[in-house]
Amino acid sequence: MRSTSPRLLPLFAIASAMAFALIAASCARSIEARTEFVIGTLCRIDLQDQGSDAAYREIFARLRSIEEAMSANKDGTELDAVNRAAGIAPVAVGADMMAVAVKAVRYAELTDGAFDPTVGPLVKLWNIGTPEARVPSAEEIAAALKLIGWRDLVVDEKAGTLFLKKPGMRLDFGAIAKGYAADAVAEILARRRIKRAVVDLGGNVLVYGKKKDGSPWRVGVQDPSGLRGSHIGIVRIEAKTLVTSGVYERFFEEDGRRYHHILSTRDGYPVSNGLISVTIVADKSVDADALSTSAFALGWEKGKALVESIPGAEAIFVWDDLTVRATPGIKKDFALSDERYRIVD
Ligand code: FAD
Ligand code: MG
Repeated sequence: MRSTSPRLLPLFAIASAMAFALIAASCARSIEARTEFVIGTLCRIDLQDQGSDAAYREIFARLRSIEEAMSANKDGTELDAVNRAAGIAPVAVGADMMAVAVKAVRYAELTDGAFDPTVGPLVKLWNIGTPEARVPSAEEIAAALKLIGWRDLVVDEKAGTLFLKKPGMRLDFGAIAKGYAADAVAEILARRRIKRAVVDLGGNVLVYGKKKDGSPWRVGVQDPSGLRGSHIGIVRIEAKTLVTSGVYERFFEEDGRRYHHILSTRDGYPVSNGLISVTIVADKSVDADALSTSAFALGWEKGKALVESIPGAEAIFVWDDLTVRATPGIKKDFALSDERYRIVD
């Protein structure tokens, strides 16, 4: 018995967007929210103040330009050019690629490589999220692991170039680029002096400004054991971002085992530490995205310590026995609503 998640993705994403819309309902808006499929997911932008066709067009064009630079799934992107030149020569990249590379290397350093933007060969090997997903052989995994190592990614900010030292190395910004994209949307909102908006890039949520009635935004934490669209609880946040990494997002099943898309750079298999999701609340979405994947890969002790080292960041960890742990700073703003789950200290 074998199943893959990608065919269902758009449906789940719609459900997710709708679930969020329900929580955020009751806010008057100047123009309806818009949803487009970009950066590999459904992106829903809800400008609740000064929304205009021009603003929406600018935002989605910005998202498309980030996809054009950083997609690992398309030929001709800057990321593709860097990968093709691995072991050959540095490649000039734009400001977006450079900014994400700098951040990604920072998180690789902070996690001692548990988060690694050079995880590409392993991502390609497993192909999770595509119909070709399969369990690779031990030899294939060993070969891919040899090509992974963020220290062999040369980031030359002055020259504006990226260089992968070994042939066969591959960058993959799947764990961080959606967060960067959400922050890029927030920059447009600031420049246009839009007062309040909700940016939902496939579950990577950023709430901008204050709600009209002054109350905090209420954002659902996705239920990692169920279908997309249901949530285990609500977080109340103001001018923050909430990002979740989980086993439910992209996976396939073979012989009764689930293989999900957050990969261990130590053994080459999906991270197996009992966690089913990690949700991060932070000031910047790029940090929240990098942290959600990092904390998932590191597990509770090291993950919590990492999150607490980033100012303004908090985390909610969920395990497969349906226990939930949260960092102290988020506890008062997080309300569990699904009674199958239980908060422990
Ligand atoms: P996260 O936990 O944030 O990230 C998990 C992803 O990070 C994995 O899917 C893998 O790509 C990578 N990763 C795995 N292990 C590690 C690790 N140890 N360290 C660092 N990174 C790791 N999907 C499509 O199906 N088609 C597309 O055309 C497509 N285009 C995209 C274009 C862009 C610019 C981006 C950012 C994403 C795109 N995606 C596309 C989605 C992408 O492939 C990932 O599935 C998605 O970004 C995962 O995000 P997440 O928040 O669910 O998980
Ligand atoms: Mg992430």
